Parts: sequence; C-alpha cells; structure tokens
Amino acid sequence: MNDNAALCQQLVQFSPDALVIVDAESIVRFANETTRVVFGHPPAELIGRSIEVLLPERFRVNHAGHVAAFHRRPGSREMGLRDVELIALRADGSEFPAGIRLSPFEWQGARYVAAAVRDMTERRAIDASLVAARAEAERANSAKSRFLATASHDLRQPMHSMRLLNAAMRKLEPQNVELRELLQRQDMAIENATHLLDALLDVSRLESGAISPQITSVHLGLVFADLQREFAAAASSKSLSLEFCDSRVVLSTDRMLLTRLLQNLVGNALKYTERGYVRVTQRIEADGLVLGVEDSGIGIPEDKLDRIFDEYYQVDPHGAPRLGVGLGLAIVREVSRLLGYAVAVRSRLGEGTQVTVRVPPQSLQAEPPSGAPPPPCRLVLVEDNVSVRTAMELYLTMEGYRTLSVGSAGEALALAAQLGPDDILLADYRLGDSMSGIDVLHRLRAQLGWELPAILLSGDLESVLRVVKSPIPHCRFLSKPVDTNALSETIVWLCGRPTGQANEAR
Ligand code: ADP
Repeated sequence: MNDNAALCQQLVQFSPDALVIVDAESIVRFANETTRVVFGHPPAELIGRSIEVLLPERFRVNHAGHVAAFHRRPGSREMGLRDVELIALRADGSEFPAGIRLSPFEWQGARYVAAAVRDMTERRAIDASLVAARAEAERANSAKSRFLATASHDLRQPMHSMRLLNAAMRKLEPQNVELRELLQRQDMAIENATHLLDALLDVSRLESGAISPQITSVHLGLVFADLQREFAAAASSKSLSLEFCDSRVVLSTDRMLLTRLLQNLVGNALKYTERGYVRVTQRIEADGLVLGVEDSGIGIPEDKLDRIFDEYYQVDPHGAPRLGVGLGLAIVREVSRLLGYAVAVRSRLGEGTQVTVRVPPQSLQAEPPSGAPPPPCRLVLVEDNVSVRTAMELYLTMEGYRTLSVGSAGEALALAAQLGPDDILLADYRLGDSMSGIDVLHRLRAQLGWELPAILLSGDLESVLRVVKSPIPHCRFLSKPVDTNALSETIVWLCGRPTGQANEAR
C-alpha cells in the first residue's frame, strides 16, 4: 500500500465522526475506530450485529420502518426530521443526542448505507444556552420598552397638571414680574421634560414594534409647509435661514412617521448651527427620491459618524452645554427602518452636515400637475354644545377652511344631499341624541354610498377606542381638548386623500 492509501485508511479509522456501514438488512459491515470513542464499542464488537444495538430500546420498534422508508427514497441526507432529536445508545447504557448523516451506495451488486455519527451533547448545550440567552435578552428588552412606554406616558399627567397650575398662577398674580419670570422658566423646564418624554415614548414604542406604519398618500409639500411653520421661530431666533424646496411629490408613506423623521433632522440641523442656513432638499433619482437636510453648522467629527445613531450618544460638546438628550437620531434610525428608507450622513467639521434619506421608488407616486394647490375641503361640524361649536368654527375659518355646522345627529343626517367630495365630517363622539358620532358617520356613508372622510372627537378616547375595535377607513379619532396642531394635520391628511367617490365606493 502506498503512503497515500495508508493515510486514507487512517483517515477513515480516525475520522472525527464515528463511521459505520450497514447492509440492506441493517447489519453492521464496517465500523471505524472512532465508534470506540463515540459509542464505547470496539469496532470488532459491532461488526455482524444489527445497527439497532446503537439505538435505545424504545426506538427499535420503529427503526425497521425508517430503514424501509430510506431505501424507498435513498439519498445522502441528514437523518431524522427537523426539530426531532435523534438519541443514540452507548455500550455502557447511557444515551446521547446524535447527529447522523446517511449516504447510500452500491458495491458488488449489494446495497449499503454509510452513516457518520457525531455526539451532539456539547453542541446542544451551547444551542440551549444561546436560545435561553436570546429569550432572556428579548424579555429584558421588551420589559424595558414597556416600562419606558408606561413611565413616560404616566409622567405626562403630572406635567399636564403643572402646566395648568402655572397658567393659573400667572392669572392670579399678573403684575408680579418676578413670579412671571419664574413661571416662564418653569414652563421651559416642563417643555424640555415633555420633549424628553416624547422622545422616550417614541423610541420605546418604535423599538418594541408597537407602531406599524399607516400608509397613505402624502403630499410632501404639505409636510414641508408644516415643518416650516413649526421651526420658523427657532430659525429666526438664531437668524438662520430655513429653506424648504418646493415639492409636488406625493409619497405612499406614514405621514406622522415621515414628519417625525424630518422633525428630528431639521431640529438637529437648527440646534447645531449658529450661522448660515438649514435647507431641506429633494432630488428624484433612478432609485427613488433623495431627501436632504443640510446645514452650515458645527459638523460632526468623522470618527463619530457611525455612533450618532445610537441611543443616548452625543458628540462631546467640549465644555459647551449639551443641547439634546441623544435620542433624536435613534428615532430617525427606527423610523427609517420601519419605512424602508436608508439614511446617510456626510459632515465636515466646522463646515456643516448633510443627512440624506433615500425613499425607494415604489413609495413614489406620480407628481400632481404643476401648480396644483392642495385639495380644498370643507368641514362639516356636528357639535351639540353651542359654545364649543362657535369656537371650532372660528378656529377652522381662521385656518382657511370652509365650514358647515349643525347641532345634532338628526340635522347632520339631513345634510346628506348637500355633501360632496371635498367634505370632511368633524363630529363629536357624544352627541346628546341617542346616536353617537360614529352612528352618524355610518349612516351618512350608507346614504352617500362612499366613504366620507371623518374626524371624531372624544373626551375619553380610550373608552371609545375600546368600543370601536377595528379601524374605520378614512376616519381618525382625536381626544378633547383637541391639540390644534394634530387637528390641522389630520384635516390636511384627510384633504390630501382621494375622496373615495370613484375608487373607494362600497
Ligand atoms: P441630540 O438630542 O443630542 O441632538 P441626536 O441623537 O439627535 O441627539 O444626535 C446625536 C448627536 O449627533 C448629537 O448630540 C450631536 O452631537 C450630533 N449631531 C446630530 N445632528 C447634527 C448636526 N446636524 N450637526 C452637528 N452635529 C449633529
């Protein structure tokens, strides 16, 4: 035998796996030296015996059936079904989890099966500890997210009270300049704490998967207009120019999430820029839309760029006061993950920062014809309380909307004939009649034959949402007292939607 052949023989005898060859009757015809280590059987002791000696007693009954099934569909494969653990028997009667690969072959007209057997005890222990560690990490992570969500939500109540108490104190002592100043500072502190809570709530909700995107048609120009309004004061207080490009792009996206993402980027750009500009740009490319938020600010050191998206990571401000809490870009990261956008940052220290957000082409809808204004709409107000109705009308008119108001469910139903595609129902949930705002909506929709968009207001939103279990299409719920920004946003959102007369009729 030449050296190579001898070496091969050694390899077979001492291969890392126990190797066994059985004939068509499951009699062992060959066993290598490793069977001694794995099974505790010297190879000679196995040869001529049924392979079943390597199986615990309880598995022997079914073994013949498995062998027959293998011979019906012979092929090289892993033995056993997925998730079923194979157990083998050692000479001393102990058992171990086994990994077994089978390979059939023919030799001198007879059929054989070669088996490689490996003791999986250690591997199983590692797998089990990994599974346990992963489960523990997931449990801890979701407990953290739940805790953060609950704590930040509950802390909002006392904040709300403090705000109201501040306002009351200011009324009590309107002449007291010192007190006014103290209260103003306290208001700012409350404002900061509220921002922190909002950010915490956002991150924990996003991370725990509690938020799923609500995809609708969103006019980017309207989102930009809202952001311009929101940040105008902050920009002018630092004499920065804040520029948004004109946009006629319509995206399929979640309006609130997209707004959150841009709010954080524009907010950062303004925070970290002392002179010059903050610009929001758009570029349509072959692979989608590229949104840019650019500033002429302090910039970010190159070696910190890959850390800034981590929670609580802030670049060392070198003695200057810290301006945020370090959660903004974590929110940006999570929102873009949810929406399928890619965010990239380029920056030069002392010159400025450019953040780009790539929106994939499938989210881009056709641009509306040039110069098309946002669709006009009229609010059909159903509110039984006269003073609330008057205040609401006033506010909506000042916002530039047309209104049509009534004081009861019955009057609202009588309006059906006058309603058109530009109308949005804005109804109180509790109307004093036997009908709720939702009943009015359903009846109107049934009469009209299309899905009249609606906003329903309630002082106890949680209870209402418990009653209304599944979402009503083109209908949003807002809590009372209403946050006017949220109301405007919702109206704009509903205005921007196709009215449903043609393609959403039931
Ligand atoms: P923060 O609340 O501190 O702004 P972020 O998560 O939003 O937290 O940002 C993380 C860090 O990245 C910031 O602390 C800041 O150092 C840096 N950073 C983010 N945006 C900018 C920017 N436009 N210009 C300069 N630095 C920025």
